[in-house]
Amino acid sequence: MTIFSLVTMAQTSDSLTSDAAQQVPQLAEAAEMILRAMSLTALWTAVANAHQAILKPDALAICYYNPDNLAQVETYGRNLPNRFLSRSASRPALWRKQRTITASPEPDAASPVQQFIAAAGFQTAVVSPFVADGQHQGGIMAYWQTAVSPTPDEIRAAQLLAHMATITIQNIRLFAAQNRALQREQQLNEFSRLLSEMQDLPSILSYVARVATELTNANQGSLGLIVSDQVMMFYPFNMPTTTPLRPQSRGHGLAWEVAESGQPIMLDDYPAHPLAEPEIINLGASGFLGAPIIVRGDFCLGTIGLFKAAPHDPFRRRDLELVESLARQAGVAIQNSRLYAEFEQRANALANALARQEELDKLKNLFVQNVSHELRTPLGIIYGHAELLNNGTLGELHPDQHESIRIIARRARMLTDLVEDLTALLAAETQELRRQLIDPIQLVSALVDDYKLQAKAVGLKVATVLPQQSPVIQGDPTHLRRVFDNLMANAFKFTPAGGTITIRLWSETKNVLIEVSDTGIGIPTEQLNRIFERFYQVDGSATRRYGGTGLGLALVKEIVTAHHGRVTIRSQEGEGTTFRISLPISGER
Ligand code: ATP
Ligand code: MG
Repeated sequence: MTIFSLVTMAQTSDSLTSDAAQQVPQLAEAAEMILRAMSLTALWTAVANAHQAILKPDALAICYYNPDNLAQVETYGRNLPNRFLSRSASRPALWRKQRTITASPEPDAASPVQQFIAAAGFQTAVVSPFVADGQHQGGIMAYWQTAVSPTPDEIRAAQLLAHMATITIQNIRLFAAQNRALQREQQLNEFSRLLSEMQDLPSILSYVARVATELTNANQGSLGLIVSDQVMMFYPFNMPTTTPLRPQSRGHGLAWEVAESGQPIMLDDYPAHPLAEPEIINLGASGFLGAPIIVRGDFCLGTIGLFKAAPHDPFRRRDLELVESLARQAGVAIQNSRLYAEFEQRANALANALARQEELDKLKNLFVQNVSHELRTPLGIIYGHAELLNNGTLGELHPDQHESIRIIARRARMLTDLVEDLTALLAAETQELRRQLIDPIQLVSALVDDYKLQAKAVGLKVATVLPQQSPVIQGDPTHLRRVFDNLMANAFKFTPAGGTITIRLWSETKNVLIEVSDTGIGIPTEQLNRIFERFYQVDGSATRRYGGTGLGLALVKEIVTAHHGRVTIRSQEGEGTTFRISLPISGER
């Protein structure tokens, strides 16, 4: 039967006496006050007032045993000494039954209850218990100094008030629980948000230890992090600085037990556990809750351990669930932070490597510049003197001497070329190019003219396919000439006598294209992407047939790129090779 049906029944029942009829508005008012109470304190006042108004007792006691927390006993008294109140509260049996106790004219020697109330100076008491879901949770006791006999209606009214109070208590508890859940949810959201923003590991660990401690009403907390697989380090919250939290090696202590089993541990009597720490027992810890921090299903990063100094309020299932959820989030955050640290470390290493590379590049350039400079003058002198000897200016030479001098001159020439290539490569890499308008037809024609004689001498044909006109390009004529000199030199070198070298020129929308093709030995496909590397030669052996140092194409690529152009290559072994240079038409970049 609900409270409302009871009130309605009280209002409509014909069997009510006129006294009872008077009680109806009182009851209705009481019901409103009681049901409206939002806190236990407000409820006790409302219940006491209603009781006072209807039963008119001389004194009144309310006692409430919280079923969630047996340590919580609430008492409320009117006209009663505190001592009596606390003694009543310590006898739960007193509040269990709806009854009227009469200790008049003398208390029954065999009834401890009658003696108890008589000792406080009362002759009558009416008990109305709080009963919810079959659980006795205390009740209301009205006292009279004289012998009175409350009417059945009055008893029913008292019962009704107790019933209403019980319902309100449940509502208040439900409301508090909901509030707590909501608060926890908000705190958890806040936790996730803050955690995702933190990056450095120590802040994450201390924060997790703090939130876990606070949300479970624990007194101390500590987060154990497994380092190097064998040792656990601890990050405490609210531990006195005098408590030493030494790192623990694998297999020692409760934290390792949690970590190794991957299962939480919840203890009501921490000091009794064989692995309990004396320093923490000294803090008064009675309860322990430990949960593993697990990521990727079964990998344990550490533990969360909580300690509570409240024997009557042990950790509960919902605390465990909460800590497990915190542990999951902490796991992700710890891992992210480690990944981030690793990433940062790699990025730094990379930046250092790049800086070092740049430094080395500068040193290399400086070195090449110095060496080239130092070599050029003496090489010129050697070459000059060799020529003097060679052409007889210094007197006639013996034929054997002639041969030697020719070799000296040739080799000195090669060395000079090499030095020039190095210098040019360096210049293309580091110096600003000169920019002037160049007619590509002129460039190619001059080139072909220069190679005609040489071609004839070695039995090669040089052919051209040129348009009447061409858009101009912009660039450095000396550098560009070097590009085509290198391509021609290669074509000459790698094409056997009887072959043809063809130079084609045409333009497309944005580019001028110049191809140098030969009918020479070709290049194996797998080497094509390497020949532009410095010092790379298809035949790099000591016994190779063709001279050179492998710098020519590197220089070609460097210069063309500096002109915002591109070099591509097609080649077929045994058939020939084509290099295509594409350079932007002036104004088209
Ligand atoms: P350098 O040009 O410094 O005197 P090199 O000619 O050997 O020496 P690169 O011009 O860079 O160096 O050419 C690299 C390699 O590419 C050559 O050694 C050769 O193996 C291959 N190569 C270049 N051009 C041709 C070509 N036209 N036909 C066949 N192979 C070629
Ligand atoms: Mg070459």
